[in-house]
Amino acid sequence: MATTKTHPHDPLPAGIDPCDVPSHGHQALRLAEARDRIVRDILPVQGRETLPLLAALGRVLAEDVRATVDVPFHRNSAMDGYALAGAGLPAAGTASFEVVGTSWAGHPFDGPVGPGQCVRIMTGASVPEATDTVVMQEHVRLVDGRAVIEPGHRLGQNVRPAGEDIRRGDVALRAGTPLTPARLGVLASIGVSEVVVRRRPRVAVFSTGDELRSVGEPLGPGQIYDSNRATLHGMLSRLEADVIDLGIIPDTREATLDAFQSASRQADLIVTSGGVSVGDADYVTETLERHGQIGFWKIAMKPGKPIACGRFGPALFFGLPGNPVSVMVTFYHVVRPALLALMGVVEPDPPVLLRATCTTRLRKKPGRLEFQRGVYERDASGRYAVRSTGHQGAGVLRSMSEANCFIVLPLEHGDVEPGSEVDVQPFAGLI
Ligand code: AMP
Ligand code: MG
Repeated sequence: MATTKTHPHDPLPAGIDPCDVPSHGHQALRLAEARDRIVRDILPVQGRETLPLLAALGRVLAEDVRATVDVPFHRNSAMDGYALAGAGLPAAGTASFEVVGTSWAGHPFDGPVGPGQCVRIMTGASVPEATDTVVMQEHVRLVDGRAVIEPGHRLGQNVRPAGEDIRRGDVALRAGTPLTPARLGVLASIGVSEVVVRRRPRVAVFSTGDELRSVGEPLGPGQIYDSNRATLHGMLSRLEADVIDLGIIPDTREATLDAFQSASRQADLIVTSGGVSVGDADYVTETLERHGQIGFWKIAMKPGKPIACGRFGPALFFGLPGNPVSVMVTFYHVVRPALLALMGVVEPDPPVLLRATCTTRLRKKPGRLEFQRGVYERDASGRYAVRSTGHQGAGVLRSMSEANCFIVLPLEHGDVEPGSEVDVQPFAGLI
């Protein structure tokens, strides 16, 4: 890969506190409100790097990019056909034009074209100066080296003006835009070979719990494998974060403090799972209270117990519940928007919601926004139908892995009977 310039660790400016309105003990906040409050105060990482265009997929532009050329660069043909001056098109009867040359893509015809003359032209080839109209070849009869044309054509047809796509001097893409394949193409079309992007956010991840073992280790009595680091690693990597895996931290005061100190030296954001629920062997809360800042967001959503949020040194912190499904749901709906803000994404794509007919019965108590897991598909009539993946326990990760969408049930909603309409949020583009 070509040279890249990496900047040193540049922590978030101190003094911003996304946890300024903890709602522990108060009425639970609606998810959208909590998310807005959390995201509002997050400043993007300041470091920038210059990358070769093809290495920048998924990264976020740090500066506006202006076009220094028109796209297309020259007036060109949208069809294979014949270029001529449209004034000579027949209104009735036929007209015939002498073919005086050929304009190939990349090899323009540079001779004169007079009235009664035309030029054979290929798609993408420059339209000769004296011409303004292209008649597609399927509409032309060649008779003795002359192009015979019927009525029914329009002056100016099949000609793509210079600058039709992007005009020289315009902002082609704004700072804060994530680079998708189409946007790499736009940048290439204006001749950009290097882009200035924000550096990737560094996210430290660790799991807490004496019951946890890493894959590759044998399980003892009462132990389980740590799956949260695997899902978090996947979700963070999809978002182009640099993941720093700090492993499993045992439930002790010393180990927890060590882990936070190590994490905050390396990372912009610390994401932990487990150990923040009431009554736990809870050193996460204690460590943050003593050495950092912590607040609890009681969000009226399910799954997702109170989510802890705070700072340790310069690093932002989210403490997610331990249950594997809760981790994924709270990540997507709370951490992901925060991470996008940290990445410098200015206008994240709004969530996609589809209306679907629910074919299974869903149990739901009013009072919380629920993200049940479902499988949706288009039925023969072109409408969406969705069914539950079954057991919706917060520990049942299979409900996520078999699903292709969240079934989003509003706060006030009760049970859903088969045949009712529900909102569905596809995983595509989200997960
Ligand atoms: P906690 O929030 O620590 O009380 O954990 C809630 C539940 O999630 C418990 O059943 C834990 O064993 C489980 N759990 C916590 N962390 C993990 C993890 N990293 N991987 C899988 N399960 C976990
Ligand atoms: Mg625990």
